[in-house]
Amino acid sequence: LPDVFIKAMPVLQTLEDAGFEAYFVGGSVRDLLLDRHVHDVDITTSAYPEEVKELFAKSIDTGIRHGTVTVLYGGESYEITTFRTESGYQDYRRPDHVTFVQNLDEDLKRRDFTINALAMDLHGQIVDLFNGVEDLKNHIIRAVGDPEKRFHEDALRMMRAVRFTSQLKFNLEEKTEQAIKDNHELLKKISVERIREEFVKMGIGPHSRQAFQIFLDTQLSEDVPDFAGKKELLQIYPQLQFSPTLETSLWSLIIILLKLPDEDISKFMRDWKNSNAMTEQVERIIKFFDLISDHTPNDYELFQAGERTIINTIDVAHILGQPVASEALVDRYLALPIKKPAELAIDGRFLIKHGMRPGAELGHTLNKIRELVVSSRLENSPDAIEKYLEDLD
Ligand code: ATP
Ligand code: MG
Repeated sequence: LPDVFIKAMPVLQTLEDAGFEAYFVGGSVRDLLLDRHVHDVDITTSAYPEEVKELFAKSIDTGIRHGTVTVLYGGESYEITTFRTESGYQDYRRPDHVTFVQNLDEDLKRRDFTINALAMDLHGQIVDLFNGVEDLKNHIIRAVGDPEKRFHEDALRMMRAVRFTSQLKFNLEEKTEQAIKDNHELLKKISVERIREEFVKMGIGPHSRQAFQIFLDTQLSEDVPDFAGKKELLQIYPQLQFSPTLETSLWSLIIILLKLPDEDISKFMRDWKNSNAMTEQVERIIKFFDLISDHTPNDYELFQAGERTIINTIDVAHILGQPVASEALVDRYLALPIKKPAELAIDGRFLIKHGMRPGAELGHTLNKIRELVVSSRLENSPDAIEKYLEDLD
């Protein structure tokens, strides 16, 4: 048994000793049986949140209304969720109300797919109400119960289904797939943040090409912001191999591929509720991508782009099947005399001391000096720069 489970055993034991039931559940059990790396374990229990809190010295009320308490134990943190059902699904979204229940079966029924509805107790005993183990063996994503009904309860599950095909290299079970085709419009009800999270996971999964094809074939793509009516453009996705190393989680790609004008890029980033930092990074990559598509960058252009943008842009170019002389670019960048503006031997104050007045002219001179230093035409030392200034006069 992997360490993550061993380390968590005392937590389950504590719950059991107090007379409660406790199980590992969901993704961690699935990934254990698949021999995939398990990063964290989720625990489900018959104990109420208040009861969980009483049993452990340190805990955080993560989502106490939904039954989740985070327990800090042995230097790790564990999400412990009380057995619950969900009710009152409104508007095809996750329910606001949960009802705590006293048995595991009820809890497993509310879960999305058979492979995610597995539980395991302290002794390694698996609880498998819906033949999830069989589906794991056959590499099948199958909704728990009636897929139609389950997607009406929470339409995000359709995106999750497709995301899991990418992550696990699994196929959709026929009825589950048909229900997605029949109900894809329901995705419109789901917040873009939740869709984005699944979309990113879909893109970085090892089976992303097939997943993108399913995303298009089921028409889910029509119900995602800014993708409607762009099927032909999007059809390029299944032909690409996405790079899990791409730091931007493929946002830049989408935009480059859509070949949007600048205003639409901003609109896309806004509509998808990306952070300003992400938007800025994407815009830098696009700018540098256009630049290297046009000409070999000079030293100052490499300096202005910066290492992070250079590396991400090389990644994007590679994915697009337009490889650039990537090592050369990175090596050239690393060999630059200075790599950040702050590494310049002088600053604005130095120029003022040498008789310049604050203003646009000064900024211009500073930029010029920086450019000369970066391109090795001027030594990065106060003396050399002073001499340069004297020669200017
Ligand atoms: P990952 O490896 O991405 O973490 P996961 O299966 O653990 O995959 P989570 O989003 O962390 O996915 O959810 C944990 C568990 O909660 C799932 O395995 C599933 O049992 C249940 N679950 C999550 N989202 C839903 C949903 N929208 N509807 C029903 N059950 C869900
Ligand atoms: Mg998880």
